[in-house]
Amino acid sequence: MASGSQSRRTSTGQHPSSVWWEEAILGDQTNCCSGHRRWSCKWCSLRDKVSGVDRVRGHLTREAGHEILSCDVISAEKRQQLREMVKTIDDQGIRDSFDPERKEAMDMAIGRFFWNEHIPFVKARSHHFKEMVQQIARHGIPYDLPTETALREQLLQVEKTNLEVQLAKVKARWKNCGVTLVADAWNDTRNRHIMGLVAYSRGQSTFLEAIDISSSGKTADNVFATWERGIEIVGEENVVLIVTDGEASNKAAARLLEARKPKIMWAPCLAHCLNNILKDFAKLPWMVGLLDKGKTLVGFLRNHSYLVAILASFSSRLSRM
Ligand SMILES: [Zn+2]
Repeated sequence: MASGSQSRRTSTGQHPSSVWWEEAILGDQTNCCSGHRRWSCKWCSLRDKVSGVDRVRGHLTREAGHEILSCDVISAEKRQQLREMVKTIDDQGIRDSFDPERKEAMDMAIGRFFWNEHIPFVKARSHHFKEMVQQIARHGIPYDLPTETALREQLLQVEKTNLEVQLAKVKARWKNCGVTLVADAWNDTRNRHIMGLVAYSRGQSTFLEAIDISSSGKTADNVFATWERGIEIVGEENVVLIVTDGEASNKAAARLLEARKPKIMWAPCLAHCLNNILKDFAKLPWMVGLLDKGKTLVGFLRNHSYLVAILASFSSRLSRM
């Protein structure tokens, strides 16, 4: 079986990315915790902070879609020579991508990671996974994977900062669009009673805080105190509505809200209300027998794969409509 690096040589025996890196001066790899090398142009000394072999190519050949300044110093003759080389490399790349042995070797390497590390197969659909593979493929030069420490510390910190920048944009819209504060309590794996707070505004939900209320209990005062914490984070002037389930402690806290912050409304969760209505229906005497028959029917369908297949074929057709 031909190795991946052997099959990725151009007709001149070069690795495709080396064509571009020959025209660039590589910076110190340790400058960037992501493992990407920064570079500057050998011709005009442009320093690129983003890195990636595609950007060197875009800078030198003036190809569209690379979002980088084009090189004004490189000679027209050299640019033409590079453009011709681009065509050769692209043709080679297309041929390589149809190399079944190489494709199988890559697929198997990805498969072994999934199988041996117990990654659920459904994660193959993750856009984060697809983006990771595409970024590694586009990087071109041999890529040093981030270490465990980098993943746990520097990179995580970078991602936190990125998220904070994105969140700042969402929060900036709260003032104009208003916020619905959603509060719900659940027990975590250590059996702690946790109250989660989420801010919802114009189709975007932002997690605010999870508050441990195990020791204080779910009394009206404690529930109201957690709502107040959410209101404090979002800004009282931005909160329009608080939505929770219809539990007694939430109803009691809603009365406190009405008295202390009359501009903010409270509403019980519609899905929770409907769920309770349906549960009450199920308790009606004429419903009990009907429900049992329904459960038997569902059980029968699920236990027969042929029927499940027919149901699935209709379900997929319905979902496409
Ligand atoms: Zn340049």
